Amino acid sequence: MRKLFIAGNWKQNGRLALVEGALQTLSQQPEAMWQDCEVSLFLPYPLLDFAIDKKQMSGLPLVIGAQNVSAYADGAYTGEVSADLLAELGTKAVLVGHSERRALFDESEPLILEKMKRAHAAGLNVVWCIGETQLDREGGQHFERIRTQLVDTIRALGIAALSKIVIAYEPVWAIGTGLAASTHQIQEMHQYIRDLISDFDKNIAEQLRIIYGGSLNRDNIGQVLMMPDVDGALVGGASLDPSHFVSLCHIGTEVNKKLES
Ligand code: PEP
Repeated sequence: MRKLFIAGNWKQNGRLALVEGALQTLSQQPEAMWQDCEVSLFLPYPLLDFAIDKKQMSGLPLVIGAQNVSAYADGAYTGEVSADLLAELGTKAVLVGHSERRALFDESEPLILEKMKRAHAAGLNVVWCIGETQLDREGGQHFERIRTQLVDTIRALGIAALSKIVIAYEPVWAIGTGLAASTHQIQEMHQYIRDLISDFDKNIAEQLRIIYGGSLNRDNIGQVLMMPDVDGALVGGASLDPSHFVSLCHIGTEVNKKLES
C-alpha cells in the first residue's frame, strides 16, 4: 500500500508564531500517526530556516518544503531562490506548478520543467501540481488538459524521475472556493493519471502517490481518501489551523486502517 501523504500549503500566510504553534501541535501527536502518514508543510521562504531548526530540535519526522523554486542556478535573478540554497537550508521538498503560480505568475510548462530539473538536481522531492480550469471542465477538456500538463514534462524528465515526485491533482475551480470536486470526479481523474503513467512504466505508476487538493476540510477528507487512487491530500486554507490540520492526518490514518482491513 502506498504511504499516506498529507501536506499543508500555507501560501502567503503564517508568521513565526504559527510555525511554533504548528510544531507544538504536531509534536503532541502519537507515534502511530507518523508511522502511517508522511506529513509535510510547505511554507513561505522566510519561515523555512526557523521551521527546519524547530523541527530538528523536536526530532519530528515532519517534511518542511518550499512553495516555489527558481528555474535557474545561482546568478543574477533578483528575488529568486535556488534549489541548491533550499537544499543547504535542510528543505526536503518543493511545490512546483501550483495553479496560483501558473495563473498569477505566468508559469509555463517549460518553466515548470526547468524548476523540476533544478529541484531534482539539488536532491529535493517535488510535489507536482496539475489541474484543469473551470473552462476546461465545462468544455469537456479536463482529461486533455491533464495529459498536456504531464506528458511532455515526463518525456523530458525521464519516467524514473517520478520516483521522487508526488503528483497533486488540484482542479483550479476547487482551490480556495469551498467547492471540492466530487469523489467521482477525483477518482476518475486520479485513475486517468495513473493509467497514463502506466503507459510509460507499470511499476512506477503503481508506486506513484497521487494526492488531491481543493477545498478539503475535516468534513470531506474522509470520503476523498476512501477513493482507491487517492493517496493523500494537499491542503491550503485548513492547514493554517494546526488542530484542524492534524485532525486531517488522523482521519487519513483511520481511513487507511479501514481500507487495509
Ligand atoms: C492549495 O492551495 O493547494 C489548496 C488546495 O487550497 P485549499 O485547500 O484552500 O483549497
